[in-house]
Amino acid sequence: MARSRAPAPALAAAGEASLSMLSGIGPAVATKLEARGLSSLQDLWLHLPLRYEDRTRLTTIARLQPGVAAQVEGRVSAVERGFRGRPVLKVALEDDSYGTLVLRFFHFRAQQVSQFAVGTRIRCYGTAKPGHLGLEIVHPSYRVMGSNDDDELGDSLDPVYPAIEGVGPATLRRFIGLALDRLPEESTLELLPPDWLSGLGLPSLRSALLTVHRPPPDADLGALAAGRHPAQRRLAIEELLAHHLSLRRQRMALQAHHAPSLRGQGALVRQLRDSLPFQLTGAQQRVFEQIRKDLGKAHPMLRLVQGDVGSGKTVVAALAAMLAVERGKQVALAAPTELLAEQHLNNLRAWLEPLGVRTAWLAGKVTGKARSKVLAEVASGEAQVVVGTHALMQDSVVFKDLALAIVDEQHRFGVHQRLALRDKGADGRSVPHQLVMTATPIPRTLAMSEYADLDVSAIDELPPGRTPVQTVALNNDRRPELIQRIALACREGQQVYWVCTLIEESEELDATPAQATFESLQALLPGVRVGLVHGRLKASEKLATMVAFKAGQIDLLVATTVIEVGVDVPNASLMIIENAERLGLAQLHQLRGRVGRGSAVSRCVLLYQAPLSAMARERLETMRQTNDGFLIAEKDLELRGPGELLGTRQTGLAGFRMADLARDADLLPGVHDLAERLLAEAPDVADKIVRRWIGTAVRYASA
Ligand code: ADP
Ligand code: MG
Repeated sequence: MARSRAPAPALAAAGEASLSMLSGIGPAVATKLEARGLSSLQDLWLHLPLRYEDRTRLTTIARLQPGVAAQVEGRVSAVERGFRGRPVLKVALEDDSYGTLVLRFFHFRAQQVSQFAVGTRIRCYGTAKPGHLGLEIVHPSYRVMGSNDDDELGDSLDPVYPAIEGVGPATLRRFIGLALDRLPEESTLELLPPDWLSGLGLPSLRSALLTVHRPPPDADLGALAAGRHPAQRRLAIEELLAHHLSLRRQRMALQAHHAPSLRGQGALVRQLRDSLPFQLTGAQQRVFEQIRKDLGKAHPMLRLVQGDVGSGKTVVAALAAMLAVERGKQVALAAPTELLAEQHLNNLRAWLEPLGVRTAWLAGKVTGKARSKVLAEVASGEAQVVVGTHALMQDSVVFKDLALAIVDEQHRFGVHQRLALRDKGADGRSVPHQLVMTATPIPRTLAMSEYADLDVSAIDELPPGRTPVQTVALNNDRRPELIQRIALACREGQQVYWVCTLIEESEELDATPAQATFESLQALLPGVRVGLVHGRLKASEKLATMVAFKAGQIDLLVATTVIEVGVDVPNASLMIIENAERLGLAQLHQLRGRVGRGSAVSRCVLLYQAPLSAMARERLETMRQTNDGFLIAEKDLELRGPGELLGTRQTGLAGFRMADLARDADLLPGVHDLAERLLAEAPDVADKIVRRWIGTAVRYASA
């Protein structure tokens, strides 16, 4: 057969061909596949396995280990059908190892029940866990072994694909197999420069796809399971490249818009700076100068300011706002909770009103006449700096001339919310500048990849006079000693936070654990003024308690993690975090940032419930060792992976088919260089790579 060397057209013919050409895919199935973004052969090639199941071996029941997936075979020794609030089917299996394994089903059909006659041979695959009667597997995949069935084991790993609603796993596997049979030749499929790839010692795309979908019997199974097989790295590289290119393109699209240039004399900036009771840190000055430069341009700024808790982001935002106000424009500042937004409002009022700048407040609880009044002031331009919560993003809020949209703790907002705010200043000709702030330090590698469409500034220095928080981990059985310590601290005029950790997020609304702690501490600490804040209180109640705490009228504040963001009480110098072993590093660090804001030595006690898992131990140890948010973030990335770090759903970080930013971080610098090179030398190739991996759907329009 003659080798086809025709590049693009052949690819279009092969990869972009519709799925209806595959046997078994009629219009109904095609619609289901399409709903999950699978419409071409190429989409099926890139529907990559989530993981693998190892059916190449049988494990005896006696040697099954909880938590480890395995394949076993046994004969049915008993069947029980019951009802415990819902129907349950339990099937006991035995093998020659004298072990018993229970298979438990919650969803089953009558026909399934009749399959499990006593004595029937069953081969099943799943992860066993301890149950009432020994090990059990819930909903295993299984096969009834007839007498003529061959007993042969699989000779390679079985890929498990992301499920598609309405298309069974076996059918999906068959479709993918058919699509793979039509993989074109290497030269047609490969888009990356060959010299670049060979330099890395990685396989071609064609060979990589075949390996991950149909691992050969001699493949390195360990590497495949860990996602570090060269074939997987080859795919990860191209995927990372596609995402990077896509973000870069969105950034370029944004740059094509106009924005109001906010260059001016800077008189208001000077006045604000002179009126502050402190000197800006070097980092604050540097970041503000970066922002000032951006705002002076006639193109929209999109800058992320990351600064550890307490690094002083708010004042930088206020200075930026002054540049807009001086040009007669409006500024919006949105924060994710009322507590935080109101704290911003108080700060900004104190700083700006003496300069004659008018602020306005808009939150969900501002209703009726008060709301109409604020809306009118915003619409007329009378309100120059508008502070609020999500309420700012509602349709009824119309600005006269919004030039700068500031979003604090941006990871708590969805991208669409940020865009909704921005669009309030877009008038077809011009788009406002955007400043987003986060206290979650982002490891450099992540910032480079996930925020390729943003400029990133770091306030990497704390204001002077802060002493690092001393952190200890304490077993819960030493609680009585701790209570004595608290009594002493309060007598000395120190203020204390006691943070109750909720087991599940849904408990945010359940006040009982915090309420109970509050009551017990009150009883144990006579003479100490104890306060309580939790998620179920009204914002006004929360605020009143926080204000009383700030004013020194409360000594010990029992709180759920609602105090996590932004709250500032410099006199608080002791924090107890209960059940600290349940929290992730980022959250622990955020919480701890509430103390150590004054000049007194601050302490943080991580109260844990033994026994600790290895991971929890490592987290607590990290917290004991360092106060550096960037180090903690790196560690967090290492321990948890990036999805959780950034709030997967909100940032669009989700949706990698192969790449994993933590695991594949070493690939990123190369991906960067390659992106530069492609954009400069072969923009059409860049387009194809983005189309191949991301499709035409815009992941999130930063433009
Ligand atoms: P964050 O970056 O966590 O949002 P804030 O903006 O709330 O930090 O600032 C924390 C505290 O530090 C505030 O009380 C603020 O007034 C104060 N602050 C900010 N910058 C400085 C500085 N350069 N010197 C001293 N205190 C500062
Ligand atoms: Mg803040």
